[in-house]
Amino acid sequence: MKYIISFIVLISLNSLSAQNVVFVVIDGARYTETFGDNSFTYIPKMGQLASQGSYLDNIHNEHITKTKNGIPALWTGSWDGSYQINYEGNNTQATYSPSIFEYFRKQKNAEASQCFYTLKYIPSVWLQSFHTEYGPDYWPTLVSSGNTDSDVLQSALDVIENHHPQLLWVYLADVDSEGHSGNWNSYTSSIETADDIVNTLWTTIQNDPIYKDNTTIFVTNDHGRHDDQHGGFQGHGCSCDGCQQIMFLAIGPDIKENYISHTHHELADAAVTASYILDVDPEYATGELISEIFKSGANSNNELENESNNHPQILINGNKIEIRLQQPAMISLEIYDIMGQKMEDFTDIKYHKEFFTFDLTKNYSRRIYIAHLKYSNSIYSEKIYIN
Ligand SMILES: [Zn+2]
Ligand SMILES: [Zn+2]
Repeated sequence: MKYIISFIVLISLNSLSAQNVVFVVIDGARYTETFGDNSFTYIPKMGQLASQGSYLDNIHNEHITKTKNGIPALWTGSWDGSYQINYEGNNTQATYSPSIFEYFRKQKNAEASQCFYTLKYIPSVWLQSFHTEYGPDYWPTLVSSGNTDSDVLQSALDVIENHHPQLLWVYLADVDSEGHSGNWNSYTSSIETADDIVNTLWTTIQNDPIYKDNTTIFVTNDHGRHDDQHGGFQGHGCSCDGCQQIMFLAIGPDIKENYISHTHHELADAAVTASYILDVDPEYATGELISEIFKSGANSNNELENESNNHPQILINGNKIEIRLQQPAMISLEIYDIMGQKMEDFTDIKYHKEFFTFDLTKNYSRRIYIAHLKYSNSIYSEKIYIN
């Protein structure tokens, strides 16, 4: 098994409360019309918002640059794909792997009112999984109504006002359909509309006492559109860079401000990263955590806030876990999985030291674990990522 250096978000033992996630998908906006344009011609508002968060300039859909493939990959964090199914009289598709909605609802025991999916009216919407461990009991509450992205915004605002779900997925379809129309002006103006929508959502979040300061917004695409050498903005679906490169913007309390990541990422990484914020384990996902966009020591609670600059460090290095303290102390360390099951127990420490290293011995088949560290009179709990 391979382990990598983990990135750590500091959270307190008493408040492992996860944060809210609003995940916005702008279908088929080409990167050259979004963050690939340094003057943000069509996304002036997101261009401004970017200073409050992080964006990636090297994330791609490296598989199939079509919506019916990209959306399931965004939901599931994998490219396991989907299959045709007749469900309640409609021919549609369902994913093989569980979706982030299912992971969230099952692992957090979350009511349907905590998990929404808003999109325009579609008679036979695509389905999440029938996975034996997850499935329809854990699907999101669907709001499929209206005809335009502005209608979808209205649905999303209503959902926020009435339910404040912990996970809200907003799917905007107009950019792709306007792109297919071949009319450049309507294509770019639909991007401007999506830009406004993201800004309205973020402003709403920041002005909402329930969401403010504990909600992260992600904005991304399922695919781009052909670059001009491969057919131009009217179409998509090939492996040209225009089709593959997508945008990814994240803003939230634990996300670095004014940061651009050049690290290579793939579309499926988005669901894994959103799961991380929700404190759930996307156990069948194959994507990777977009770790570099997180602040170190973010989200510290009241007691720990003052210590946030000298908190202990917990690093995964090879098959070892390393603990560094500011002051020598005796420690006890326990590793739990996200479901609360204890994985390892290093409680029998006899040394008063600043640096400890332990061998990880168990089969770490999940990705996200919690390290509980006790030292001096402090209790410390951090999410660790083991790949
Ligand atoms: Zn399309
Ligand atoms: Zn292409």
